[in-house]
Amino acid sequence: MILEIKKYGDPVLRMESQPVRKITPEIKTLARNMLETMYAASGVGLAAPQVGIPCRLIVVDVGDGPITMINPQIMSARGEVSDREGCLSIPGVTGVVTRAEQVTVSGIDLDGNKVVLDAGGLLARALQHEIDHLAGILFVDKARDIVQEESMRAGR
Ligand code: ZN
Repeated sequence: MILEIKKYGDPVLRMESQPVRKITPEIKTLARNMLETMYAASGVGLAAPQVGIPCRLIVVDVGDGPITMINPQIMSARGEVSDREGCLSIPGVTGVVTRAEQVTVSGIDLDGNKVVLDAGGLLARALQHEIDHLAGILFVDKARDIVQEESMRAGR
């Protein structure tokens, strides 16, 4: 099921998301629907607050297959790299954000197993972007050279 993606200005995007305490069937369904919604919108990541549910659940796929992480946490970060990024909640807007080049992220998968991910490149960027969402942080808070597409400015 494709879910409605909450847009910039919706208060849920600014909430501190709550940890997932139990992997219920509802959480599994939510994760599946979030992936479906992300693919339908041609995104590389989605966080639960973006579909109106402030819990610590993210999905990411940068082309290497879907990753679902519950209660993700950045354990360590190395290096620094700047690149342009966007957000499904802020359509038509991009900006340059400086992030860690590599991160180690730990979390739990849908079977309740602990997962530790060493990520670089786009995956590292996507994970940091999605984990920011769980703290109510949006990329435009950190971005420079923010560009808004002409069609969006015209309100189309
Ligand atoms: Zn986003």
